[in-house]
Parts: sequence; C-alpha cells; structure tokens
Amino acid sequence: MPPNSRDTPTGVLFESDVETVDGGLSKDVTTLKTTDGSRLQLVWFNIVLFVILHSASLYGVWLLLAEATWTTFLLFIPAVVTTILGVSGGAHRLWAHRTFKANTPLKLIFLFLNTLAFQDAVYFWARDHRVHHKFTETDGDPYNSQRGWFFSHIGWLCCRKHPEVVERGKQIDLSDLESDPLVMFQKKYYLLLMPIICFVLPTALPMYLWGESLNVSFHVMALLRWSTSLNLIWLVNSSAHMFGMKPYDKNICPVDQGFLIACRVGEGYHNYHHVFPWDYKSAELGKYSQDVTTKFIDFFAYLGWAYDLKSVPLDLVRRRAERTGDGSHPVWGWGDKDQLKEDIGGTTITHQRKARHYPDTQNT
Ligand SMILES: [Zn+2]
Ligand SMILES: [Zn+2]
Repeated sequence: MPPNSRDTPTGVLFESDVETVDGGLSKDVTTLKTTDGSRLQLVWFNIVLFVILHSASLYGVWLLLAEATWTTFLLFIPAVVTTILGVSGGAHRLWAHRTFKANTPLKLIFLFLNTLAFQDAVYFWARDHRVHHKFTETDGDPYNSQRGWFFSHIGWLCCRKHPEVVERGKQIDLSDLESDPLVMFQKKYYLLLMPIICFVLPTALPMYLWGESLNVSFHVMALLRWSTSLNLIWLVNSSAHMFGMKPYDKNICPVDQGFLIACRVGEGYHNYHHVFPWDYKSAELGKYSQDVTTKFIDFFAYLGWAYDLKSVPLDLVRRRAERTGDGSHPVWGWGDKDQLKEDIGGTTITHQRKARHYPDTQNT
C-alpha cells in the first residue's frame, strides 16, 4: 500500500495526500485510535544499554557542571542542537516528508548530522515515521501513545515491534529513499560510520581542539550530548501526543506542546505537523516558525542549496483551524472575527492618516 493510499485510517504524509478542500482528512479517526494491549516481548539488551547510557549521562551532567572547561560548557547546548538538526531537518523534514529538496552537499551535511544523532539510518527512521503518521495511535504506530507516555517515549525501543508495525512497515512506499544513493550509502555503512561520528569524533575533537580531558569529552560531548538529543526528540512522540492544545484538529492526539515550542529547536507544533506534514517549517508562518531547524533550512535556501520549500497558505490553515480546531488558536490578526471589542477599543494606533478624511482605515 503506497503512502498515497486513500484507505488508511489516519495520516497524510505528503502534499499529494491532501484529501479535502482545506488540506485535511475527511474521515473520523477518533474511533480508530486503539491498542490491543497485548504484552510485548522485552529486549533486555536495549534495556541494559539505556540504563547504562542514562546513568553515565547523569555522571556527565556532574562533570559538565564541576569539571568541564568553559569551552565544553559553552559548546554543549550548541552541540545538542546541531545533533538534533540531523533528525529534525534531515531524516524528518527532508527525507520522511519531502518538505523541501536539497543538493548533494546539503544532503551530505544532513547525513553527517543524522549519523551524529544515532537514531538508526535515515532509511529506517523515515520508514518508521511514515508508518507513525499513517497509523497514528493504533497498534500499527511504532510509538503508539495509546500505550502510555513511557512506551511512546523510550519503551518502544525496549521491546520487539508489535506485529502490526512490522506489517504496516512493509506496505509503506520507500522507493524515493531507495533511489537516493546517499541514503542507501548511509544505510549500508551505518555500523561503521555511526561509532566514528557519534562517539569517536565527539570524544576526540574536544581533546585535540581545546585540551578537554578524555573523561569529560566522552561522558559529556559523546554520551550526554547523545542522550539529551534522544530525549528531546522522543518528547515529540510522547508529550507532543498528550499534553498541549489542538488548534488545528481536535480529533487527533498530537498536540502543540509548550515545552518543545519553548525549546525552539523545532517540531513543537505537532498538532499542526500531523495536519500539514508537508510544510517545511513544521509550523505556520510568522512567530510560529522561529525555530532553529527552520532557520537552518532557510539559510541553505538563501544559498540555493535547499529549494522547493513547501508551505501551507495561511488562509488554508485558517479554514482548517476554524473547521476542526479546538478553538485555542489565537486571534489571527487585526480584524479577526474573534478579536474582542475591548481589545479593538484599547489598541493604540499611531501614524494615523487624518481620520475625518479616511474614516475606514483604522479598522481595515
Ligand atoms: Zn507524531
Ligand atoms: Zn512527521
């Protein structure tokens, strides 16, 4: 079943999936959200690795605050953000949803950053993510939030996939990824590239460039950087499917998530993203799209390296929010029908033309 198939229960992936006049789904998906609650088979190897990783990361937090050089301290957050770009901008917006196109040098940058993030090869990440959008909140969803916050955050990586996930994954069209030689190169050599880029380089570079100790470099710039980026991205699958507002579609679980929006890295407007997943900003225009990932793509669009950036027109967004939103979308701007009379009366308007000559201009 290709991603464009019409008989899937939820989720649009690309612009070509649009089913209604305002870009959304015409089906009621609420009755399809489900899990059979079956016990999943635990993968103890992964569980032990995650326990070790998070314990070592806590030690890394102590090292960052107590022993790290100022250079490491100041570069830690930029290193986390750079790592996230490989998933948010690369695997997610470029490859999983095709929200824009990139030339070869930019694809290489995204593949490098994606390998730095170690969330499996782009090919597998994009497959799982397409299945997530197509079968959101069902047993076919790899990070099905109906199984609870912990499962959708990290639990899904600690057990064997539900048979439905495996089945749905086989039905998703991945021909675009299979015809991309760079994506297939990363997939083929992942087990060689990943340890070098995600662990060896972040340990070696701080030691050679600014004389950081091996202990701090490894625990802070390799492990803590990696685990922090993992948890921030996992929050999109867990908290951004549970705790927040639904300005664009109240019938789906994904929400606009306040903490992630405040982080400004990208992907916080998850209710918007599940309604309009082909938008390269993963958010509306204006103040909604001021995140690092969008700015990164904008910068390379300015250079001509990123092109064919897809955005959803504001009036389409507005119509969709009015039709299916939960009413939490803020006033759109001056003259919005929901704008309160006292707000209109209390507004200071400067540089006015003479009112008696242009009586209508204040309210247009
Ligand atoms: Zn989602
Ligand atoms: Zn997505």
